[in-house]
Amino acid sequence: MSRIAYVNGRYVPHHAARVHIEDRGFQFADAVYEVIAVSGGGLVDEAPHLQRLGRSLGELRIARPMSEAALKAVMREVIRRNGVRDGIIYLQISRGAAPRDFAFPRSARPSVVMTARRHSGPNPRLVEEGVGVITIPDIRWARPDIKSVALLPNTLGKQQAKEAGAYEAWQVDRDGKVTEGTSSNAWIITGTGEVVTRQADTSILNGITRLSLIALLDGEGLRLVERPFSVAEAKAAREAFLTSTTNFVLPVVRIDDVPIGNGHPGTAVRRLREAYLSYTAAQGMRR
Ligand code: PMP
Repeated sequence: MSRIAYVNGRYVPHHAARVHIEDRGFQFADAVYEVIAVSGGGLVDEAPHLQRLGRSLGELRIARPMSEAALKAVMREVIRRNGVRDGIIYLQISRGAAPRDFAFPRSARPSVVMTARRHSGPNPRLVEEGVGVITIPDIRWARPDIKSVALLPNTLGKQQAKEAGAYEAWQVDRDGKVTEGTSSNAWIITGTGEVVTRQADTSILNGITRLSLIALLDGEGLRLVERPFSVAEAKAAREAFLTSTTNFVLPVVRIDDVPIGNGHPGTAVRRLREAYLSYTAAQGMRR
């Protein structure tokens, strides 16, 4: 099946999908996005993703391009046309195309782009063995809570991780505290069994996987503490993991080459991953 993209009102072959060269997403990263998982044909956590999208648009004062009902209908059509049962949908909204000027154009129509593809989560070997992360300074702007496409620091960080043989880079603020990964949220489980992740202020993206997992912790008998944690504390943790729409819950077993716990995925993170996967599968069945 050939891939189909949605671009400003049209469904077009993926290879021919285009936006204008003066699109502000292209020129200024003046755009926001969402990535939503598709499980069993159903959208996972659609409501909180759309709520976060609305918040990102609002923070940047980009007009909503269409009603929520229309957006939902287009997302379903993109999924259908691409034959995706398990995968992801990518949705981007820019302020639109206009003659290049830093200030907002008086009348530009927001550009809307959507793509979908099959994806079944990370390589099972990574889940089984866990992954390594490196730590890098967080050099991003002060509003990573807005899901904008201004992802240059994130791409540089991810490339640095890849070149170091690691899966992800955990970004570290000026106080030596971990903010989050380049495309995932960061978590540790301390020696006393507390599940720790940074509070969702303006310093991190409030991951939807993060939020759903928080809601599941109680049922697993685990206690959550939302606070910053240092790199040293992470290296001394009993377990560590990351969360994101494409990775779900993934064990972290090395930080800067220091093994976490016994260097293998721990029991709590395995349990959390299973609980999260059951939660997403249930949404596919409910659709
Ligand atoms: N932080 C950053 C910087 C990200 O890019 C992502 C994924 N887009 C996340 C966290 C995880 O968010 P979510 O669980 O909504 O995918």
